[in-house]
Amino acid sequence: MLGKMMDMPLSITSMIKHAARFHSDTEIVSRTIEGPIHRYTYADSYQRIQKLAHALVELGVQPGDRVATLAWNSYRHFELYFAISGLGAVCHTINPRLFGDQISYIINHAQDKVIFVDLSFVPVLEGVVDQIGDDVEFVIMTDPDHMPESKLDDVQCYEDLVTDQPDHYDWPELEENTASSLCYSSGTTGNPKGVLYTHRSTVLHAMGICAADTMAISGRDAVLPVVPMFHVNAWGIPYAAAMSGAKLVFPGAGMDGASVFELLEQEDVTLTAGVPTVWLLLQQYFQAENKTLPHLERVIVGGAALPASIIEAFEQDLGCKCLHAWGMTEMSPIGTIFHMKGDMKDMTSEQLMAYKVKQGHPVYGVEMKIVNDDDEALPHNGQDFGELLVRGPWITSGYFEDDEASAGSFDAEGYFRTGDVCTIDDRGFMQIVDRSKDVIKSGGEWISSIDLENIAVGHEAIAEAAVIGLSHPKWDERPLLICVKAEGADVAAEDMLAMYKGKVADWWIPNEVAFVDELPHTATGKLLKTALRKQFSDHTFSDA
Ligand code: AMP
Repeated sequence: MLGKMMDMPLSITSMIKHAARFHSDTEIVSRTIEGPIHRYTYADSYQRIQKLAHALVELGVQPGDRVATLAWNSYRHFELYFAISGLGAVCHTINPRLFGDQISYIINHAQDKVIFVDLSFVPVLEGVVDQIGDDVEFVIMTDPDHMPESKLDDVQCYEDLVTDQPDHYDWPELEENTASSLCYSSGTTGNPKGVLYTHRSTVLHAMGICAADTMAISGRDAVLPVVPMFHVNAWGIPYAAAMSGAKLVFPGAGMDGASVFELLEQEDVTLTAGVPTVWLLLQQYFQAENKTLPHLERVIVGGAALPASIIEAFEQDLGCKCLHAWGMTEMSPIGTIFHMKGDMKDMTSEQLMAYKVKQGHPVYGVEMKIVNDDDEALPHNGQDFGELLVRGPWITSGYFEDDEASAGSFDAEGYFRTGDVCTIDDRGFMQIVDRSKDVIKSGGEWISSIDLENIAVGHEAIAEAAVIGLSHPKWDERPLLICVKAEGADVAAEDMLAMYKGKVADWWIPNEVAFVDELPHTATGKLLKTALRKQFSDHTFSDA
């Protein structure tokens, strides 16, 4: 028997309508590329979103068309999120930090019809314009006074397009599984792969991150997403903020410690989110300047492992919580986050820290299992590790127009293969041991490259470290530690190896150490181990 409840499609438009109607005076504050701080309200924003929808229609945008953005976090980018998806078109956020040929690949693969570009990324687009189709239209996200000279053809100005449009738009009622946005995941191998979100997945994910044990975003928060809007929709924060009526603060291009600090302080920000590198820069800044942020309550950290040193600095110096989260582009992105469970209330800070450094506890809506090489489920005992598989309503069911990449990404039960190797403990906390491609297979057993890297960066003379497995005639693979020394510091290879004694099993200790000037990274700042394996492919261990 079916129940009798309204079958209302979940829609992105409903979130901004709610914000404009019930949180009309709440502010959206942006550091602009042009210079000044811009501020307006949800009501103002929604009015411009409706004008922008008219402008998009005038540009010929049809339902299903892909409309791209190459932009920082700002109010204009926010308007594009809602106007494009509201029309039934797809908001394709491009990561400007990708290499030129990846950007042109993505634009061509997505068949973008219009590209909206921030002033700072006009040169990026000019650099690839010869590799993309002739029928793409370009709009620079600025006002007429700041329009630059550009070699882009027929380029238009955002404010010129929007200003004189009618301020009411009759949104279509869309089926909730209509595609809403597209984000390419920049893996370390092969071409980027497109993840195509829906209105339904976006709304459910926004509800998921608003939950008390996730990010607990509320109408009392002022939220500053440092995580870029071109990286998994800024972790869904712009939608969740609109849904809950939180004040939004957009940092524009100012990602350095001083600029982020200034906005956190001046706008009384309570919640912020980003990758560990950003927090390291902020930590250096507030410690050097001896400053505090009395309003800041929560810092969400994900994208890469969060070291205990950052958690301690934020807790002790700023008195705020540092919540470690894990997710993927394919997962909208939230999968897990730290929260304290009822039976953890009496733990000592040392006991709690052991959980805080883990990648977190599954959020309702995300199911997880860890499996061995034969896809057999492994116990959740905090010891056994295997590949993490996930499923849920905001997890991809296949890559956009890419059957090859989709094939092999799911198991027989429809779970998505994350490629992360993890443990899950008896309380449900997940800890990443490695990427499946990076785990080192030595004598039939696995060694975690991440654990070895974390220990190496704990040495004061080391700025950054990577561990890769290189082939070994006896053991199949053995670890090589590759380090970048901190400025002005020195350390001998033997001393680096000696520091592993007692911290890991003896057979985990790397065979050798190589010192380099810098390590290669992907466009999203992750270590590019494929490049390192290539660089060291001729290396032979002395005992081989
Ligand atoms: P992306 O799709 O670019 O967001 O990258 C997702 C990948 O980043 C995951 O599969 C993990 O390998 C890595 N990742 C995300 N969050 C964390 C975290 N908290 N700790 C370690 N690795 C992470």
